[in-house]
Amino acid sequence: MTGSCNGCGACCAVVVLKREHKVAGRIARSEGQELPADYLWALDDLQEITYAEALVAHPYLVPADDALTYNRCRHFDYVSRRCTNYDRRPDVCRAFPWYDDGPNATRIEDLPWCGFWPDVPVWRAASDGLAELVA
Ligand code: SF4
Ligand code: SF4
Repeated sequence: MTGSCNGCGACCAVVVLKREHKVAGRIARSEGQELPADYLWALDDLQEITYAEALVAHPYLVPADDALTYNRCRHFDYVSRRCTNYDRRPDVCRAFPWYDDGPNATRIEDLPWCGFWPDVPVWRAASDGLAELVA
């Protein structure tokens, strides 16, 4: 059985992004560089919020990390829990959660109802202390 998106919307309700990704985008823009769609999305579509605010929208977030930013995406409809820009969403959204790396429990550790859990080998989840999520 392979995983697939069940449309729960949890990964869009709070978008967790490495701070360095946003910093790199701001620097590139200030230098007049043409930005790829993923960077445009990070800079223009995501509004940074505090960890406390993020917890309201997503109570299962793992502990706060200064290396990460917590964001609302302007394309997410919090009522329908759907992307309003689905056909034009950036690659970073299309390839979530595995990208080119293959299944990794830590990538979805704060998304207990994510439909991609079946991709994660039980041994890997157990080694990450997450076995209860796939039992
Ligand atoms: S663009 Fe759409 S899929 Fe990507 S984070 Fe925003 S709402 Fe989610
Ligand atoms: S958390 Fe998983 S199942 Fe839910 S919308 Fe995101 S990818 Fe789909």
